[in-house]
Amino acid sequence: MKDCLFCKIVAKEIPAEIVHETGRTLAFRDIDPKAPTHVLVIPKEHHADAAALAEADDGLTDEVLKAAHAVAVLDQVAERGYRVVFNTGPAAGQTVFHTHAHVLGGRDLTWPPG
Ligand code: ADP
Repeated sequence: MKDCLFCKIVAKEIPAEIVHETGRTLAFRDIDPKAPTHVLVIPKEHHADAAALAEADDGLTDEVLKAAHAVAVLDQVAERGYRVVFNTGPAAGQTVFHTHAHVLGGRDLTWPPG
């Protein structure tokens, strides 16, 4: 989609540190990491948020979650524990409206989030 930051990363128009890729998903390091591991996993197809993704294609939602777990294994945070977060909508703090799973790990994470 035109003017979507993450679509531009998929199209390689904007650089990103890619850590995992499948036919329909892409995972790259967050530019402003909040934990030692902070990777964003996105569907290559544009969907505004997690709700829109799930409604459009629940098979792709499954692929995004599987890719999130693959990233945690690759970054060696899976055993200790990690968090997968979909900020969905403005009240949840979503600022980039191309759905993305934050994969956070490598430190103890507090709960509840702010
Ligand atoms: P928030 O900005 O409140 O974390 P989101 O859940 O929408 O809201 O997350 C967007 C994420 O995208 C942020 O963690 C931000 O650091 C990250 N980000 C923004 N631009 C880039 C970029 N060019 N490359 C990698 N990550 C980016």
